Amino acid sequence: MAETAGFLEDFKADEPEVKKLKVCATSTNEPQNDIMYRLVRRYSSFVDLQRSVAWLLRYRQFLRARVNKSSNPQRGPLTCMEMANATMAIVRVVQKEVFSQALNVLHNHADFSSPVTTLSVDQLKKHPSLRELQRLSPYLVDGVLRVGGRLQHSQLPTTAKHPVLLPSKPPVTDLLILDCHVREGHMGASYILNSLYNNFWILKGKAAVKKALRLCYSCKFWKAGIGKEQMAPCLYTE
Ligand SMILES: [Zn+2]
Repeated sequence: MAETAGFLEDFKADEPEVKKLKVCATSTNEPQNDIMYRLVRRYSSFVDLQRSVAWLLRYRQFLRARVNKSSNPQRGPLTCMEMANATMAIVRVVQKEVFSQALNVLHNHADFSSPVTTLSVDQLKKHPSLRELQRLSPYLVDGVLRVGGRLQHSQLPTTAKHPVLLPSKPPVTDLLILDCHVREGHMGASYILNSLYNNFWILKGKAAVKKALRLCYSCKFWKAGIGKEQMAPCLYTE
């Protein structure tokens, strides 16, 4: 190493044989430049998207473990926990894109030091874009926007009491609905909506589910009417 350093010291920067290289590094917080943002828009199947994000998260964990020389990185097939973490990572990307103002308000809230923060009705009224979320009393838990509601004292699981808030428009919501629809045996809109409520609260959910179910090719095929053949014209004339 010392020999190499001495060898390099013999060269001067202004010599004609020395090639000058320009190295540019940019850093931005724009969501469009985030690899997660690009991944979320690339897939047409929620499970495929979930797997890709899970592998990406594992790779990040692997790099961190190598840098810190701390723990052994995870090996082997993806685990259920990794798939669940991937789902939350996808949700964070979608929420950052659509509910950015709500997230900013909740991040700047005075009680952010507590693990769960919520906004009062008066605070939500000050921000016009948050009126849509006002009746849901949004919570911020671990960077994910969840529905507040009035079920905090019930015996239901936490995910059912405070489901993850999702917008109705982005393609990820359609993928999630279709994934649930296929897993539940191609059931109808009401059943799928109730099944999703265990984990997710989709704004304008009924309309969003109905719209997404129109994209299911299997249902289109099985519900299609029986074709009726048209009589051919007679070949012979009298
Ligand atoms: Zn179907």
